This record gives sequence, C-alpha cells and structure tokens, in this order.
Amino acid sequence: MVFFCFLVDQKRMVRSSKPVAGICSRCGGCASVADMQTSTRFCYVPVHRRSWRAIICTFCGALLKSYR
Ligand SMILES: [Zn+2]
Repeated sequence: MVFFCFLVDQKRMVRSSKPVAGICSRCGGCASVADMQTSTRFCYVPVHRRSWRAIICTFCGALLKSYR
C-alpha cells in the first residue's frame, strides 16, 4: 500500500515593516509597508520561497496592496 503525502502549506511571514501614510479600508487602522516572505512547504520541506512587499494593516492584518 502506498501513502501519498498531499500536505502542502503556505506560510506568510512579515520580515520587517514600517509605518506608512494611509489607513485600512476595513478597520481604519494604521497602514504599514512590510517586507513579506511566503514559503511554500510540501510535507514540511520548503520547496519555494518568495519575497515581496506589501502594504498591510497593522491592526487587523489585512492586505491592502501588494507589489510583485
Ligand atoms: Zn485593518
């Protein structure tokens, strides 16, 4: 019998962030520009890592804008 492992998960991390002018459209909190890193793991082995920049809300964590 063969067991396939379809365990794929994606982790989003904020590496650093700093306040930027603007407010969240969802909660009205302060926005900040953040260096994000998304790592995709397959069976707990990191297979892909991507760094990107986004404007996020520091209060509710909403993604307001992303730069690719
Ligand atoms: Zn918010």
